[in-house]
Amino acid sequence: MQRIYLSPPHQNGHELELIQEVLQSNFLAPVGPMLDRLESTMCQVSGYPHCLALNTGSAALHLAIRHLLDQHRSADSRPPVVIAASLSFIASVAPALHMGCEVWLTDVEEESWTMDPILLSHALTDAHAEGRQILCVLPTDLFGQACDLAAIRGLCDGTGIPVLCDSAEALGVPRSGPAPWAQVFSFNGNKIITCSGGGILATHDDRLAHHARKLCMQAREDCVHYEHRELGYNYRLSNLLAGVAVAQLESLQDRVRKRRAIFEGYRERLGAIDGISFMPEAGWNEATRWLSVIRIHSQTYGRDREQVRLALEAENIESRPIWKPLHRQPALQHLRCYGGEHSDLLFEEGLCLPSGSALTDSDLDRICSLF
Ligand SMILES: *Cc1c(COP(=O)(O)O)cnc(C)c1O
Repeated sequence: MQRIYLSPPHQNGHELELIQEVLQSNFLAPVGPMLDRLESTMCQVSGYPHCLALNTGSAALHLAIRHLLDQHRSADSRPPVVIAASLSFIASVAPALHMGCEVWLTDVEEESWTMDPILLSHALTDAHAEGRQILCVLPTDLFGQACDLAAIRGLCDGTGIPVLCDSAEALGVPRSGPAPWAQVFSFNGNKIITCSGGGILATHDDRLAHHARKLCMQAREDCVHYEHRELGYNYRLSNLLAGVAVAQLESLQDRVRKRRAIFEGYRERLGAIDGISFMPEAGWNEATRWLSVIRIHSQTYGRDREQVRLALEAENIESRPIWKPLHRQPALQHLRCYGGEHSDLLFEEGLCLPSGSALTDSDLDRICSLF
């Protein structure tokens, strides 16, 4: 039986042509026309005036945090605070922690599985009472589901707290309402669009865009020789890989439609089973369903999430528990967390099913016959 992967890359056939175009241009470098083309395509796709192409989504998060820290002026000897959602991949918070920030976590809400604005408001109230500076609020758009940005911005805008969205899993989500300060996308191998590895920092903020563009290439000053007034990083995406990303982006809307259809395919086949339910879709945004996620209520269903996962694995089908909440990670147990029970329960019950956009109806039948 051929293995069914969780979310494998899906080529549309145009990638090779654009790679050849790069080879012919001889811009085998982290600069070049294809990189410019990727950035302008991403500006169209995302609606931001600035998109910076980087070698990972993690690098994009790092540059945004670094920029905020450089602007941050405070007499407080305590580190500034970044507030993030606990139900996420560790890459959401690792850059802030590397940079010496204090990270506070919040649980997610039932309606969307993303940052709970009520818990965020508690964290902001405490920060105010304790005289803490908030560097930014960093919600995650989970599995292709946008966070409740209107509510989050409602809490942040009045006090000028920037909202940095970790949208690594949510490229293709139509953004309704005003955009956040900045948004990060990923082209990692399992994401909806991939160039094997890559990321985008998208923003309306001219200063962030300009500074990040400088920082990502060793912070070279605008000068003939190599002059450095600050330290940067080597984070630029290669012009060669940009060709793959540009080709892939041509299929973004198709891929979103297909992932949503796969989710519906699971719902048709499994929706009537007692003890199985599906990740909800929030009222404010259509989700891309980057991953199709179900919840398994073991007492009703008779098997728990791990038993189901092993049964699928025995048939050569890859599935995966949802993110283990960050407040449960041994490396992060010291972080302050507001709530957490809901993420804990979702981790216990949540299973990500194969969701690659090349999945066929017979694959779906094969997977669902094991329930
Ligand atoms: C994939 C992912 C990232 C990291 O993106 P990379 O491009 O792999 O660095 C960050 N946050 C979340 C939630 C992700 O799923």
